[in-house]
Amino acid sequence: MLAAHCPVCDVTQLYSYSHLHSLHNTPRGIQLVMDCYCGERFTVLTGRGVGNPLHSAASTV
Ligand SMILES: [Zn+2]
Repeated sequence: MLAAHCPVCDVTQLYSYSHLHSLHNTPRGIQLVMDCYCGERFTVLTGRGVGNPLHSAASTV
């Protein structure tokens, strides 16, 4: 399970790994593409150098 913030639901909730669509290492950090329970697909930037882990750069795809 991992916690992520859906910008559509505007709530941070726990997701099982089956909701993790993809994961990319980028120069800015680790970009997770998540599928929310509401059906929205959103990206989360996490990793070193990102101020607030898992919540700082959520946006819709
Ligand atoms: Zn949602």
